[in-house]
Amino acid sequence: MKINQHLAQLLIAVCVALLSGCQTLQNIDKGLYDVAESITETDRVTGQRTLSTADRSAQIRQGNAAVEQLLADEKKAGRRINAALDSRQYQRLVRIFDRIHQVSHLSQERWQPILIDRDSFNAFTTGGTYIVVHRGLMQQLNDDEVAAVVGHEIAHTVANHAGERQTTQQISTLASSAARKQGYQAAYTHELEREADRIGVLYAALAGFDPYAATGIWQRQYQQQGNARSLFAHDHPVNAERAAETRALADRVKQYYQPGRINPNAAQLRDNNSLWQKHQNRDQELAGEGGGVTAILSTALGAYVDHQQAKREAVRQSQYAQFVKAVESYMKLEQQRRATDKSWTTRWRYSGNLPLKGVIMGFLAQDSTGKIHRYVAHQPGIVRPGQRFTLTFKTNDGLTLKQIEAMKARYYVDDAMPAR
Ligand SMILES: [Zn+2]
Repeated sequence: MKINQHLAQLLIAVCVALLSGCQTLQNIDKGLYDVAESITETDRVTGQRTLSTADRSAQIRQGNAAVEQLLADEKKAGRRINAALDSRQYQRLVRIFDRIHQVSHLSQERWQPILIDRDSFNAFTTGGTYIVVHRGLMQQLNDDEVAAVVGHEIAHTVANHAGERQTTQQISTLASSAARKQGYQAAYTHELEREADRIGVLYAALAGFDPYAATGIWQRQYQQQGNARSLFAHDHPVNAERAAETRALADRVKQYYQPGRINPNAAQLRDNNSLWQKHQNRDQELAGEGGGVTAILSTALGAYVDHQQAKREAVRQSQYAQFVKAVESYMKLEQQRRATDKSWTTRWRYSGNLPLKGVIMGFLAQDSTGKIHRYVAHQPGIVRPGQRFTLTFKTNDGLTLKQIEAMKARYYVDDAMPAR
């Protein structure tokens, strides 16, 4: 952080020195501004310039082609979509979608939600004008929660994440070997997810949906799945963090929330919302008066700052994963017995010398088709050195203990934090 600021100050100082009192440089500066305009676009939400090599119409073409290919494949496989699949759920999706889309930064574009025949809990966008929602998600969520998901997905496109990702991938293939490490891309995506959450919660509140609904989703995911901190490089923020962060966001936008209706000042509240600006908007600066150099600089620095954030996030994730792995070596299973057909109890002893909080023990089992089943159990409060504790695991996917006992399985530490 310190080093970045110094570098930024140094770069700005050098450029100001070059520009001062020089007539011909004014023309060069004007030229620089035009170059900056042609290779960047002003971020539609934050006023920050972000690098992008694709313009919006090319992005729509590319994004929509991917969804249309998917729809063609669905048809070929004999699967229905939209109202033909489930007219009640599709109408519900359209109704929620329309309200969120109306308050979004892309309300002038014609968008369409698509409902596809999948049981899973999923929705996605590809940077075009479709949002694809799985039937399973509609069945599991109430209206406010669906609105939270729709807001998040539209936000990815509003914040130009499809374009940024492409450019970042191009940059990271050219960049240092550190940047090419697997964790970097996950960490970068992680930062984009947080940005989409910020914008999505704002949209939900402006459209008259409960801004705390997103928090409800992540809390439930945390209870059911834990955080899996030791297992993956996280391209999405872990569930507990996402619950806490979306709650803090909802606290900030709840004043805009008028239950069941679009806030009459939605457009102004959206466009003049300083809460959503990553950096000060530099557009007021005039071309020919240093604005050109600033435009180039803010592009370079914007990408540089994003890169630093992603790098920090990658380091943070790998440190946590190592910590949780170390905790694992201090957890000893002392006892395990059947409780019901679908649950079992375990007794553990922790022999580390650092008190822990937020301990979640996990259990992984692989069935004969190769599918992994993951179950977690939360230990409330603090676990002290030498402490024994008892946890009950429940299967939440309908499997019985008998089925699970026939599988290859192991315990792992899903999450733990040092308790102060
Ligand atoms: Zn996302």
